[in-house]
Amino acid sequence: MRKTLSYDDVLLKPQYSDIKSRSEVDITSKLGSNISLSTPILSSPMDTVSENRMAVCMSDAGGAAVIHRYNTISEQANLVSLARQQCANDLIVGAAIGVSGDYLNRAAVLKAVGVDFICVDVAHGHHISMKEALTSLRSLLGDELHIMAGNVATLEGVNDLSDWGADSVRCNIGGGSICSTRIQTGHGMPGLETIFECAQTDRDVKIIADGGIKNSGDIVKALAAGADAVMVGSLLAGTSETPGSVMKDAAGHTWKEYRGMASKEAQMEWRGKYSSFEGVATRVPFRGPAKEIIEDLCRGIKSGLSYSGARTISELQSKCEFVEQSAASQSESATHIVGREW
Ligand code: IMP
Repeated sequence: MRKTLSYDDVLLKPQYSDIKSRSEVDITSKLGSNISLSTPILSSPMDTVSENRMAVCMSDAGGAAVIHRYNTISEQANLVSLARQQCANDLIVGAAIGVSGDYLNRAAVLKAVGVDFICVDVAHGHHISMKEALTSLRSLLGDELHIMAGNVATLEGVNDLSDWGADSVRCNIGGGSICSTRIQTGHGMPGLETIFECAQTDRDVKIIADGGIKNSGDIVKALAAGADAVMVGSLLAGTSETPGSVMKDAAGHTWKEYRGMASKEAQMEWRGKYSSFEGVATRVPFRGPAKEIIEDLCRGIKSGLSYSGARTISELQSKCEFVEQSAASQSESATHIVGREW
């Protein structure tokens, strides 16, 4: 059986660096001719993460949001239009669609309101429904509009989605913080291993490391392993720009809801019933503006590149050296004064 690794199993070996300031490090990632991200971070298409306010915030911070699809076509189109109105012309925004029902109409309307990319968003993307959807979408939308698709966990999955028409592929099955796919189905692949494998592709396709990313260190590891950008949900959950209201408990603590789109709660709300549920609903502390969180992540990513002596993501990918860590090393790598006996 093959041994596989995830984010906490590895570290990047520090290397000689002649970078004197983080300002020398450029973390720009080009996903397509019209999609250049100065911050290689996308927000997840989830109804507790990405609507118009997150779209404006992400784009202002150099990344992009993918507006979720758990609404009517006109509601989703309106969220895209609202984001466009609140902002500068250089807004980069994507929007999600499924692979059945109204997805072709949805794609046509989203193109008409000016999305920069469409994200074909299903749990198991290496599937005949994805093949049929991508084929139909390409003939509907032409070759110009960037199509992101997923999720997959294998090199074969990335290659097939690329051959079927995807420009970028979301990689990782079952790694999200609110995800229970691996528990319910026994299927998945460790998140970082997925990137190591998927980045071996010889197709002209971008790799998005999606889910399970807990901090800027994980982002640096994902980029080093071959991702072009990361997609995050929990890192942005609970911020001011997420949909939903702030809840206050009896002790005066403030919270916001964060839930998997395949959770029982989310399914009941968007389709009035649930089938297999592969996610959970929870609440996370209210954390204020997302801008500060993204800025902190960027500082961490740039610092990470400089530890590898790399000024760009591609330099990081060619210079990086991963080492595996033991259980003792994992606890040494954590902030380990907490819980120490004095
Ligand atoms: P996080 O950044 O670890 O919180 O993971 C967010 C990612 O989890 C999303 O971008 C999706 O790929 C994935 N996801 C969202 N909802 C669900 C769910 O209900 N089940 C499984 N995966 C989910």
